[in-house]
Amino acid sequence: MNPSIRPAAPQLEDLQPYDPKYLPADVMLSANENTADVPPEIRRQIEHEVRKVALNRYPDPLANDLRDMIAEANGLDRDQVLLGNGGDELLFDIALAWGGPGRTYLDMPPTFSVYRSNALLTNTAVVEIPRQIDFSLSGEACQRRLEQGDIDYTIITSPNNPSGNLADPLWVERLAEASDALVVVDEAYFEFSRNTVRPLLDRYPNLCILRTFSKAFSLAGVRIGYLLGHEDVLTQLKKVRQPYSVNAVSQAVARVVYGNRAAFEKGIDAILAERERLLGALDALAGVSAYPSDSNFILFALDDAYDGGAVWQRLLDAGVLVRDFSQAPYLHNCLRVSVGNEYENDCFLEALEAALA
Ligand SMILES: *Cc1c(COP(=O)(O)O)cnc(C)c1O
Repeated sequence: MNPSIRPAAPQLEDLQPYDPKYLPADVMLSANENTADVPPEIRRQIEHEVRKVALNRYPDPLANDLRDMIAEANGLDRDQVLLGNGGDELLFDIALAWGGPGRTYLDMPPTFSVYRSNALLTNTAVVEIPRQIDFSLSGEACQRRLEQGDIDYTIITSPNNPSGNLADPLWVERLAEASDALVVVDEAYFEFSRNTVRPLLDRYPNLCILRTFSKAFSLAGVRIGYLLGHEDVLTQLKKVRQPYSVNAVSQAVARVVYGNRAAFEKGIDAILAERERLLGALDALAGVSAYPSDSNFILFALDDAYDGGAVWQRLLDAGVLVRDFSQAPYLHNCLRVSVGNEYENDCFLEALEAALA
């Protein structure tokens, strides 16, 4: 018997498994979830619908009922909507379909790290054009790079994660215009920013919008995301997707939540109000610079007098989990906190003050 094991594919060698350091804590403010679970009356409807699901049958592969609801809400046809097992699955499908050996992805760091990992996994070359010091897009540089014609796809996060700022829609349009590259606008936090490039979809067949149920709609555990885009783009993605990735239970849950989405607006308003309070309180702390946010989280940098990783650990020791970006490229000594409810935000502020003392 041969006791050794053949190495995995070479592109995996320098990759680390995705580890968000999602540890149990009393106050969970690290993953930009909606801190409020689905309201009880909507949960009751969910339970009723889930009871009707035939567990022995395969789900509708494309989740057509849900697709129709999303299409109608966005003034699109069914063929212009594609569901996925979280937005993450769709991001992977995009890398599979538009990346690959000999192909190139344009990344705009600091941004969601999953894009770059997916490119590396699929043997796609990565070109980086970093954002500016205030995290706005380096629009002209990106436009010029796209005009060279060798970029196959790019992803613009708006609002950006982890910096929280919206992309200027004028730049999104110029980048869509600059070449025939697929331009994905990741609007995972759309319900908080209340800003979308949806109007551009009608004019740019190379533009796609990614959204998710994981953030504003309190369904991170259910794994549902969707793309809006040209049907020819979605047809290509259908070739690479796992046919039954969106399970029947998740489809049923998402239908109820989407049908009741207006009921989430009050909670979103409360999060936005808490965000402004949190921003004010962070600004008042010496040694902390917080960035303005169009989303449900805030990025803040610590003065060099502090070690961001040590502050993160002290917060965790105090029962408050936030996201540590202190060692990440372009995010020197930065932490990111999700906006929770009033109690959670108070716990965080108290723990942060103590950690900096
Ligand atoms: C959370 C998030 C997603 C998608 O998350 P899923 O839970 O997989 O739907 C996509 N993009 C960004 C920038 C995110 O923050």
